[in-house]
Amino acid sequence: MITETSFKCQLCETTISFHIEDSSTYLAKTDELKFAGMELATYRIGHEHDELYHVNVVTVDHRGHWRGHKDAYKEDVPKVKKELHLLNSNNIDRYKSQIFEFLILVDSLENWVFEVLSPDNIMPLSIAETVLETLSEIDDDLIEEGLRTNMELFLVDQNFKVSIFGARSIVYITKSLEKESVHQMIFDQLFFFDFDKNSEEDHQLLFMTILELFDFLDVSEIDNKKIGELVDMAYLSNPLQTSNNDVVSDLITKLVNQKSFPEHLVMGAISLLSGQVTLLELIHQGFFDDFNSLMDIVEFLKIKIKD
Ligand SMILES: [Zn+2]
Repeated sequence: MITETSFKCQLCETTISFHIEDSSTYLAKTDELKFAGMELATYRIGHEHDELYHVNVVTVDHRGHWRGHKDAYKEDVPKVKKELHLLNSNNIDRYKSQIFEFLILVDSLENWVFEVLSPDNIMPLSIAETVLETLSEIDDDLIEEGLRTNMELFLVDQNFKVSIFGARSIVYITKSLEKESVHQMIFDQLFFFDFDKNSEEDHQLLFMTILELFDFLDVSEIDNKKIGELVDMAYLSNPLQTSNNDVVSDLITKLVNQKSFPEHLVMGAISLLSGQVTLLELIHQGFFDDFNSLMDIVEFLKIKIKD
């Protein structure tokens, strides 16, 4: 009967166990030979100790009994290369942002990469892998928990900036340094966005829309709370979530009676309320300039529905 093999590490005396029938418990197996009725094989088994990797080379018989040590040495802890996957692999028409040349979000816990903007000559997956490798080599103390950390990397002849918060990293190439405050507003949304709801293409459209808004509007005009509301309501065809037609027609009457709202915005809000368009579609129909007023109307309707 084959048993688990146990022995003491020659370097640190820790008791090590592995199983000759489970290749995931050892690094390598070599030299099978028959000797005095036994079949002997050599196994390399590794374990981490004091930030180093101890490798023991041991001889084991065919029943799993330890028969002796051949060698033991120290080496660097092997790096486990993470397999990342791209969340949105279907390319939609790329918006040419005035702020970013390249913008991706990497989640090192869930091992995915979300591509917001990426020109054809840059491979988002390989950039993300290099960034995670670099991060794994950085002393953990330099990345303070709960704080954003920034660093720069020079790869493929480009200067990439990285903003890290928890398991998420935003990797980007900026076109406009003056818009640093805008960067942070966009990053606020990316760092906390829930990627489990809706499709990846919808998420990409949402973040493209946000980039477009920041191109259309002056920084001073942008209220991050309104951007947050857009993110919350982006996928609802009717942002007020009521299918009651009486409520909808009552809201439309109130909206029309409210003389302070420009007519084209009222018409837009009505198509929104009746579920003909989503907020994102409406903005894309030419409401970039009117974004703040549009969100004011949505807010007005939300308050009215509570009354
Ligand atoms: Zn050891």
